[in-house]
Amino acid sequence: MKASTSWLGTSYRTNVPYRHGAAAENVETPVSTILVVDDDHRMRQSVKELLSAYGYQSMTADGGAEALRILGEHAIDLMLLDLNMPGVDGYQVMQQVSEKHPDTDIVVISGETTFESATEALRCGAQDFLRKPYAPDRLIQILNGLLQKQQIEQNIRDVKLRLEASEQRYRFIVNNSPDIIYMLDGEGCFAFVNDRVFELLGYKPDEIMSRHYSELVHKEDLEKARYAFDERRTGRRASHNIELRLLCKDSSLPYRYFESRSITIELNAMGMYGDKAEEKNRQKGFIGTYGVARDISERKRAEEVINFQLYHDLLTRLPNRALFRDRLNHAISQARRNDSQLAVMYLDMDRFKVINDSLGHLAGDQLLQTVASRLSTCLRDSDTLARVGGDEFNLLVPDISGREDVVRIATKIFEKLKLPVDLEGCEIFISFSVGIALFPQDGATMEALVKNADMAMYHIKSHGKNGYEFFSDNIKGLYQQQLSMENGIRRALEEDQFELFFQPQVEVNSGRICGMEALIRWHHPERGLILPDDFIPLSEDSQLIVGIGSWVLEAACRELRKWSEAGAVDVVMAINISAVQLEQQGFAQSILETLQRHGLSGNRLELEITENILMRDMDRAVLELRKLAGRGVRVAVDDFGVGYSSLGYLKSLPLNTLKIDRLFISEIQSSQGNNSIITAIIAMARELNLDIIAEGVENPVQMEYLKALKCPKAQGFLLGYPISASDAMLRLQQVVP
Ligand code: C2E
Ligand code: MG
Ligand code: MG
Repeated sequence: MKASTSWLGTSYRTNVPYRHGAAAENVETPVSTILVVDDDHRMRQSVKELLSAYGYQSMTADGGAEALRILGEHAIDLMLLDLNMPGVDGYQVMQQVSEKHPDTDIVVISGETTFESATEALRCGAQDFLRKPYAPDRLIQILNGLLQKQQIEQNIRDVKLRLEASEQRYRFIVNNSPDIIYMLDGEGCFAFVNDRVFELLGYKPDEIMSRHYSELVHKEDLEKARYAFDERRTGRRASHNIELRLLCKDSSLPYRYFESRSITIELNAMGMYGDKAEEKNRQKGFIGTYGVARDISERKRAEEVINFQLYHDLLTRLPNRALFRDRLNHAISQARRNDSQLAVMYLDMDRFKVINDSLGHLAGDQLLQTVASRLSTCLRDSDTLARVGGDEFNLLVPDISGREDVVRIATKIFEKLKLPVDLEGCEIFISFSVGIALFPQDGATMEALVKNADMAMYHIKSHGKNGYEFFSDNIKGLYQQQLSMENGIRRALEEDQFELFFQPQVEVNSGRICGMEALIRWHHPERGLILPDDFIPLSEDSQLIVGIGSWVLEAACRELRKWSEAGAVDVVMAINISAVQLEQQGFAQSILETLQRHGLSGNRLELEITENILMRDMDRAVLELRKLAGRGVRVAVDDFGVGYSSLGYLKSLPLNTLKIDRLFISEIQSSQGNNSIITAIIAMARELNLDIIAEGVENPVQMEYLKALKCPKAQGFLLGYPISASDAMLRLQQVVP
């Protein structure tokens, strides 16, 4: 461009200020707007030309009034102003500019030569004063200087605005962070904390500022906090991640849990402090802490609940088996170190099942809670009482001096438990069987102690209940015997040592065999024939009955199939079922499958259940039996009359047959005698539309009597002993026409 003029000789092009970002060399148009105010036309014109030659846009005004009008309409960066003008003079213009257009810089160009006029102009707001006549390059120099200054000021304003916006943005982000963000100074006092602290802990940030962090930390977590905040490390070890409880100001919650991630920082660099603090810190070579604390209360409380649930029984809120074993392990190690003794007591409520089933589960639960709280009153702080099963409790008594101590505790417990419990208006009397094992004499490990206490409990339970017993060699011997029996049963199943015998069930009037009861026999390789009473109860306790039951079912169905093929198509096979079997998942299903596999219909099978089944999980038993009844399978109550049966439960079962217990039949001495029980049972069975089988008929007198009572069916040695499968087949073939 043609910026240079002969009388300046220098191009100011590069110095010409541009507005925002217009600094590139090839941008031609300067955007500063200059207003030339002079009443002298020539003067205005020459200045305008001069400016134009230097690339400046300019406007002109012939006096103060015109100038003010233009100022009102255009953004003027700079005004070259004459002082002496008719009408509105330069001073008045300056007055107006300082009031209304403070961003417009003014350079006075005046013929006034006095020092006073110059200072007056400057006082009125002029940035510079140029006396006429003036050297053009001096005017350009002043212009450039002022416009550059304006540009710099503008830049500063922009930067400031941006800074403010960014500060606001960060403040917003920091304060709206879901976490507490904080800084600690060299003394561990809060130098900054965001607003979130109010919502989470109830403190306004101002209340926390300058307070020491320890005032906020739960006392049990102070050590951890000190480790994180006091040991200031640098480098890779500068950051800490800890869980802390921070105290709430005054909410109902005493504290909340936080996960704090903090990092050691040089606070000087952050410009956090006033000069004084900074100076002090610099002298110490200080570094502080920056951290973010996240509220994890919900997670922690959930964890606490889960932990409690993991290690406690929720009904009684006592420790559970896992926690008991843990405590026992500790106690054993301690006893070993201190050469002391401890006792493990295994407590089992007698007949809890009966209470539970007869009064309902709610009452059962209430009873357990009462028992738990009564037992708890007998304990010292160091003792641990745990609920380890339905009605089973374990008690750990550390630091005892011998048996006498345990006897004292046991006596106390029995005293407490012997008081009646009020359950829904019913007074219930309960009793416990308690087995006791001592460390070190009865076992060196947790497992051994619990097992031996259990064994002692089991022993007292099977010998009259309601009492306590210390573990002894005698008990151990019995237990080992039992163990070898169990192993024997397992082997018997594997090696096919069982056999089914069959005892006929006969119609009283016709003498026809209408059914056969399958009765199991065990051919023990060393002990010879063993009858079911000697191994069935044991196998029920150890669940081995499940395997035996399957075997019986299979063998019985196989035999029944053979009988059918031989023509005995209406003989019913009766098999005995244990309560434990009925409680198995899929019990009904497996029976139906077996029947189907052998091509037998449901009504060929009768399941004999004893009344004790009804003392157990009644609902489940009813459900399974109904499934079977739906497919025609018959159900008989075995040994009826000796248990706790009531008409009530009989009605809820899909029953077909009552088997009157042998005990009542054996009481029949003469055919004319008065056996009111049998009479009543038969009457009742008829009432319920049930079939009746009298068990254990051994002599004709009994048979006659039953005939007189119109008892439809009978079973017993008189009518046939239990016989092998091949004999049973022969027997059936004899009667098959
Ligand atoms: P139960 O079901 O009441 O079977 C009748 C028992 O009385 C049989 O004894 C039978 O031999 C015996 N008995 C039959 N008639 C007379 C008689 O006229 N007089 C006398 N004194 N006894 C007679 P067993 O075979 O020793 O069976 C005893 C119990 O073992 C059975 O009583 C039954 O409850 C159980 N049992 C037998 N086999 C099985 C089985 O396969 N599974 C299950 N779970 N239990 C079985
Ligand atoms: Mg039976
Ligand atoms: Mg029976």
